[in-house]
Amino acid sequence: MPKQENQQSSFSIHGIGVSSGIAIGRAHLVSNALLEVVHYQLPKHLIDDEIARFNTAIHTVKKDLEAIRESLSKNAPAEIGAFINTHLMMLADKSLSEIPKEIIRKEQCNAEWAIKQQMDGIVEQFDAIEDEYLRERKQDVVQVVERVIKVLLGHPNQAPNQSSTKQQTVKQQENATILVAHDISPADAIQFKQHHFAAFITDVGGATSHTAILARSLNIPSILALQRARDLINDNELIIVDGSLGVVIVNPSKEVLAEYKLRQEQWELEQQKLQRIKATKAVTICGTVVELHANIEVPEDVVAVKASGATGIGLYRTEFLFMNKRGMPDEEEQFLAYKQVTEAMKGMPVTIRTLDLGADKQMNPDTVSSCANPALGLRAVRLCLSEPQIFLTQLRAILRASHFGHIKILIPMLSTLSELRQTKLLLERAKESLRKQDMPFDENITLGGMIEVPAAAINAEAFAKELDFMSIGTNDLIQYTLAIDRTDDAVAHLYNALHPAVLKLISMTIKAGERLGKPVSVCGEMAGDAKLTQLLIGMGLRQFSMHPSNILSVKQQVLHSEVSVLNLHARKVLNHTDIEKIELKVAQFNLH
Ligand code: PEP
Ligand code: MG
Repeated sequence: MPKQENQQSSFSIHGIGVSSGIAIGRAHLVSNALLEVVHYQLPKHLIDDEIARFNTAIHTVKKDLEAIRESLSKNAPAEIGAFINTHLMMLADKSLSEIPKEIIRKEQCNAEWAIKQQMDGIVEQFDAIEDEYLRERKQDVVQVVERVIKVLLGHPNQAPNQSSTKQQTVKQQENATILVAHDISPADAIQFKQHHFAAFITDVGGATSHTAILARSLNIPSILALQRARDLINDNELIIVDGSLGVVIVNPSKEVLAEYKLRQEQWELEQQKLQRIKATKAVTICGTVVELHANIEVPEDVVAVKASGATGIGLYRTEFLFMNKRGMPDEEEQFLAYKQVTEAMKGMPVTIRTLDLGADKQMNPDTVSSCANPALGLRAVRLCLSEPQIFLTQLRAILRASHFGHIKILIPMLSTLSELRQTKLLLERAKESLRKQDMPFDENITLGGMIEVPAAAINAEAFAKELDFMSIGTNDLIQYTLAIDRTDDAVAHLYNALHPAVLKLISMTIKAGERLGKPVSVCGEMAGDAKLTQLLIGMGLRQFSMHPSNILSVKQQVLHSEVSVLNLHARKVLNHTDIEKIELKVAQFNLH
């Protein structure tokens, strides 16, 4: 359980560290991810671009509102049209369409911040109005600005944020921004990929929740499940985030600050040292090749994949392409995204997972699933089979992109063979429709299945017979095997990859693949945990897929591995039925 230690003005809070590293910076409190926007400075030469970005956003919102007005049926109440007209008038008003540009220029700040500043000023004036009707119009201003901010967040500027050098400088500055939120949905978190945060901390969340996975993919120190961070930390307060230990230190003393600056330098030095093995092939001492692939969420992640030395993409979570959108992305938009990734990987395998929406991954941050157990509901392949048109569109887009490189298709959350067979029929239909249109695609494209439901792991041999490859999704496999919601920090202490039942299911799947000559990989968070690399190699795993930032530390483990020794070790671990004994054995082995 998280605990607090108060010592005068300085205190620490403990949570679950989900992404390592140390950041020192100022707290930026976020309640509503869209309206409490981040503030950052821009260099002079980017100001014109930022103003152009703002103009485009205003234009997009105008077009959207006009389209809504046009789509209203003749029978729609007159107030709705009037209401949209009001929003259009507000948008056209100088106070929203011109003054923010002056703010951008004067303060050299980002467009979201400029329009938010302007809105705050207008809202204050509304608050002072006596007439109740007019006072309430402030809500319209907020709604219009919210629309503009949403569009801006979906189309970030090109300020460099991907390079590790930039991130390191950001982390080192004491005025760097640390995002403090109560909770952040995956749909909101994906938008933060575009901004320059030095660290990310939240009150709630489990270590393998999709928010945690995204936090990790931001490649900055992250801590979840801090319980009351948002209440205890004030805006702009100096904080240290130690992602490795899961500790946040608020208002550190001079001594603690100095100590952490040193630790931060050491950590970054270690990361630099790891760079030496970037081009080294992942081969064990005895010559066994281990494939180290990367997981991605959006096409832009390919930059990090390339920088990590990964030899392919083992999991492309396509559902993020469907989030924060007005409507579904059409076949062309999907095709272009998949093609972009495939071409960038230049012949290396790209495993595209079909839509895994549902449960904690909703299309919109505000959408809450109404069923009692969303993780057990209409999610992933179940959802796709119930919406065959959506599924067919995606399959056609993936097939078309397969003409431009080496694509593999991966189906999430299979639990019955019938789901797999229905998927195959749809895939055939998609292929047939492309053939009829003379559209090229890879006729030999392979089809794999995620093994992440215990039923599929127990029945892995039957799945292996009908699949070309399998990929173990340990995040869900653990959740469903141990009946522990991966997003719920109240049961996070029970979520354990080393539970003997979990290890048995993983082992059964690997063995089934070996017997039938079908490759098996692990693409859940377990694959990126360097403490478990040798155990998994000992269990027979030869393909790992993880967040790019983990590739080098896992590779280091591979390079020190001797397969025959690890087989013996894994057999001993698998013979235990006690979690504590397994943990001890794994920890002891890692010391060797
Ligand atoms: C998993 O469940 O392990 C997995 C890789 O899929 P996701 O985390 O996207 O559910
Ligand atoms: Mg999963």
